Amino acid sequence: MINWEAVRAEVTRHLQALIRIDTTNPPGNESEAARYLEGVLRREGFEPLFVESAPGRGNVLARLAGGDGPPLMLLGHTDVVAAEPEHWTHPPFSGALADGCVWGRGALDMKNMVAANLMVLLLLQRESVRLNRDIIFAATADEEAGKGNHGPGWIIDNRPDLWDAPLIITEGGGSDFAVGEQRFYTCQTGQKGLCRLRLIARGTPGHGSMPHGDSAIVKLSRALAGLAGTAFPAHMSASVRRFVEGIASRRPAPEAALWRQVLDPATADTALCALPISSTLRRELGAVLHNTASPTMAEAGSKINVIPGEATAWIDGRLVPGQTPENFVAELRAFVGDEVAIEVDQCTPPLEASSDTPLFRTIAAVMQKREPDAPVLPYLMPAGTDAKHIVPRRPETQIYGFMPYRQQPGEEEMELIHGHDERTSVEELLFATQVLYEIVCRFGGVEYR
Ligand SMILES: [Zn+2]
Repeated sequence: MINWEAVRAEVTRHLQALIRIDTTNPPGNESEAARYLEGVLRREGFEPLFVESAPGRGNVLARLAGGDGPPLMLLGHTDVVAAEPEHWTHPPFSGALADGCVWGRGALDMKNMVAANLMVLLLLQRESVRLNRDIIFAATADEEAGKGNHGPGWIIDNRPDLWDAPLIITEGGGSDFAVGEQRFYTCQTGQKGLCRLRLIARGTPGHGSMPHGDSAIVKLSRALAGLAGTAFPAHMSASVRRFVEGIASRRPAPEAALWRQVLDPATADTALCALPISSTLRRELGAVLHNTASPTMAEAGSKINVIPGEATAWIDGRLVPGQTPENFVAELRAFVGDEVAIEVDQCTPPLEASSDTPLFRTIAAVMQKREPDAPVLPYLMPAGTDAKHIVPRRPETQIYGFMPYRQQPGEEEMELIHGHDERTSVEELLFATQVLYEIVCRFGGVEYR
């Protein structure tokens, strides 16, 4: 029998230790965190592998040997985003334990899952659990810095022998949420793609004292104004379809009908407006039903008295599964007009794994046993995870985002992630450890005791 009280203290200690290592990316400095994890694993009899993709950018992998089944990887990134200490109740790299929570940058994204994953491996080893497949622990660098490639992408490109897991559980889902009184859990099955582009307007340069009616800045402004209140067409992905169907099946008749109207792209937007849901959920559903375009930077001119010949705006574009940059540019053109050139700068494709797989079903079954009234729904994430570095290189990989987490009353987990006062309750850390342990056992062919 596992002593879960002792596990609670142990996993909390590991999370505190990881938070105290400042892995703000950039620059990252994940090696110190990787070395910490390597040390713990080695002391417990594992033979972890430490690999640096660049000085300071450490990754660590460890393997628990099992049977011949396709290996399952528990993956977490050790880097975090920057914090502004003056806005925190407890310093962001203190790992303070207060009010039942571990406080600090990374407490939710995602050193908590790294600590829980570590704990799962240690417990499997200590309990001598013999599974039908290898379980791989991976704590990797460089997820948070957009283009970053010092983590999984680098390992696959440079040490392909180390990356042989076609099944991965990582961040991106696992939280509960409520519609009315009904609770659900998400399991991330997909994520939107990225299509970053530039709008460039060209005009006639000249002296500021002599306006000539061909201003690049004015043209760019007209194009950007076209984006106000844009209504991109709705596109339905398999994940969102199942998500909406799952909610509809648990809601009373009049509301369920509205949910079903969301499934039809022709009625999706009006139905979405009419649903009695939180503004957060409405915004999120809006984002996963449509390609989106957010202007995030603009640049023109360098002197007050010179009319510039060119003006540029950068657009953070996101694509629904099934959409291509070409589709997206065509949709965008209808809003920004013909006065600007559209130049695509950087793309990563949208990703989607099936929810009709043994691993997804295992996750759902374990949760059903623990919380029979809160079903697990496939979930499309508006933003991205490390999956974007993995699936394009290893298209056969099934990646699910599942870090079990019950939102605290009055607290929006999503507002703490990358926000001030990021923290996780010790209770949830233990809960996640238990659930992940059970998922791994059951998926590995051993009934959890
Ligand atoms: Zn993350």
